[in-house]
Amino acid sequence: MYATALHCSFCATNFPLTNLGTCPICGKAGEESALNETLGVEYDLAALKSHLDRDRLARRAAGIWRYHELLPVADPALRIDLGAGGTRLARLTRLPESQMVQKLFMKIEGSNPTGSFKDRPIGVAASVALEHGARGLACLTSGNIGSAMAAVAAKAGIPALVFLLGSAGGAGGAKHAAVSVEKYVQISAYGARVITPQGDLGQLMALANRVEQELGWSFMHNVQGYQPDGDKTTAFEICEQLNWQAPAAVFVPAGTGTDLFGLWQGFHIFKELGFIERIPRMFAVQPEGAASLAHAWKSQMRVPTLLAQVEPNVAPPITHRVSGYHAYKAILESHGGAVGVSDAAMLTAVKDLASGEGIYSEAASAAALAGIRTALADHLLDLEEIQEHGVVGILTSHGLKNTLALGKLYSPPPIVEGTWDGIQIYLSDL
Ligand SMILES: [Zn+2]
Repeated sequence: MYATALHCSFCATNFPLTNLGTCPICGKAGEESALNETLGVEYDLAALKSHLDRDRLARRAAGIWRYHELLPVADPALRIDLGAGGTRLARLTRLPESQMVQKLFMKIEGSNPTGSFKDRPIGVAASVALEHGARGLACLTSGNIGSAMAAVAAKAGIPALVFLLGSAGGAGGAKHAAVSVEKYVQISAYGARVITPQGDLGQLMALANRVEQELGWSFMHNVQGYQPDGDKTTAFEICEQLNWQAPAAVFVPAGTGTDLFGLWQGFHIFKELGFIERIPRMFAVQPEGAASLAHAWKSQMRVPTLLAQVEPNVAPPITHRVSGYHAYKAILESHGGAVGVSDAAMLTAVKDLASGEGIYSEAASAAALAGIRTALADHLLDLEEIQEHGVVGILTSHGLKNTLALGKLYSPPPIVEGTWDGIQIYLSDL
């Protein structure tokens, strides 16, 4: 295995790969803090350089394990493979922006096995947990992590427990919390136990640690340092799909920001291996009223601070009071940025992608297109640079993930008389 250590992007300390949880120096137990998300895995790229080249990679089957030398799971038997990764990079051709930006692409992560990009980070982190001897898998989630983890647990033949949180990252107070129906049904179908425990996030984290200690189950946030490794395979695929080129800019819907950080790591690794020549500008897209990265970036903060509150919106998966420092660092060092987008902009993007390009995505995913539109309008992109190298948005999950919320956009189908006259009247405006 080429993984050597866990590295903190804030204090630059390296820790052994047996280390769990947050950085022991920077992490703030029981608190929400950007410094609870700083860890990533380091690799011996000098050694790997002589073993791996682009041709060798290109001959392998698609999927995250195609890049197994760049993932932290040593035992091939514990690389749980549900077919995550290998998703399409779709070039947009019919939206107005695709006329302005000739190379405008969307990475269709909703076609992953459980319908979201989380199959990559959780596929890797859960395999790491198994390698550490986990007797069961558990997580706190607003939905997509739970589905990805429950599916891996089912395939590995071990039990799964999901603490399902309501929107805005807080557990509901009622007997039946306001959680996404599509998500708890999907998680339950994989055989996981789903509960909505009451209490603030700090209390639930403490409870999770107790479950971990007493029962030997692994919570996904305690293997968080390994999650960006799954996300970085998205960057590897983008480079290969662009014929070993990196785009000018990448727009990533960002809750904790782990996906954005993982992508940035991936581009760096491919550059260090000599597979690509440049690093894209990394842009975070967040809902207005829950945009800690955009707030920090505009105010030139050293570390993103906790928002006093978040506003309810149509994108719970990317609604947090604070995002990770690791994502913020990726934005700053890549000379990217962060934008907030409204509910209306996200819902318009859902409709436009579906009706214009045949791509159905969750509102939190379509935020990527809304973010590109905002960045173009605000002149945050270098037009010459994006014409040459292109722009990629990460459509993180499938539209079927929040059908009920999107139901507000469309009227139920009208009742039409089943005759030629009836259908002619109905179609008269076409
Ligand atoms: Zn640290």
